[in-house]
Amino acid sequence: MSLQFARFPYLKRLSEFDFKAQPAVDKRLVEELATGRFLSEGRNIIFLGPPGVGKTHLAIALGVITAELGNRVYFTTAIDLARKLTKAMHENRLSREMKNLTRPKLLIIDEVGYLKLEQPEASLVFQVISQRYERQGAIVLTSNKAFGAWGEVFAGDAVMASAALDRLLHRCTIVNIRGESYRLKEKRQAESGGYAKEVANITAKA
Ligand code: ADP
Ligand code: MG
Repeated sequence: MSLQFARFPYLKRLSEFDFKAQPAVDKRLVEELATGRFLSEGRNIIFLGPPGVGKTHLAIALGVITAELGNRVYFTTAIDLARKLTKAMHENRLSREMKNLTRPKLLIIDEVGYLKLEQPEASLVFQVISQRYERQGAIVLTSNKAFGAWGEVFAGDAVMASAALDRLLHRCTIVNIRGESYRLKEKRQAESGGYAKEVANITAKA
């Protein structure tokens, strides 16, 4: 039931995560997160890093654990969340939609920063963050953008971005993942060739 409600794009488990391939991720820290204690503490978790390093994998894995503990989880990307809220606003059902997004024990917001939010999208996403903060509802968030660049993500509004970050970071565990894309690394190892490495270099610079 909880797993269906969550709308994960696919299922990933912590047991499938190769910690040896990703030394930037502290295994013990992730195991602590996997206890689910962060849920009752209303603590947020932010996975930061370039594409392909396992941010979504880890976010889904924590979501699956949360669901298996019998809690409601809702997974969305930042842009889908923004569109859903904008639609609800136009259809005069924003407050109901806000409740749907603040009630689950865990809200996962994936891919903050891949696409820039326009107004009113940015304000609506800010409201979700703010309302969950007031209810001490945990958020797991992933982003490829450093916090300093979040003004751009929030419709160019640096004040709103820092207000969002203030709430998110108040009780928060940040997992900073560096390194190259897992897929590209696997591909490169398979080919031991130049092309994948070049692509990896381009993405690392991006
Ligand atoms: P990101 O969200 O950071 O862009 P993903 O979590 O989507 O990256 O990872 C890309 C793919 O590589 C996924 O299929 C994921 O399961 C896999 N992957 C990434 N890192 C690891 C890892 N350390 N161990 C196992 N699979 C991994
Ligand atoms: Mg991802």
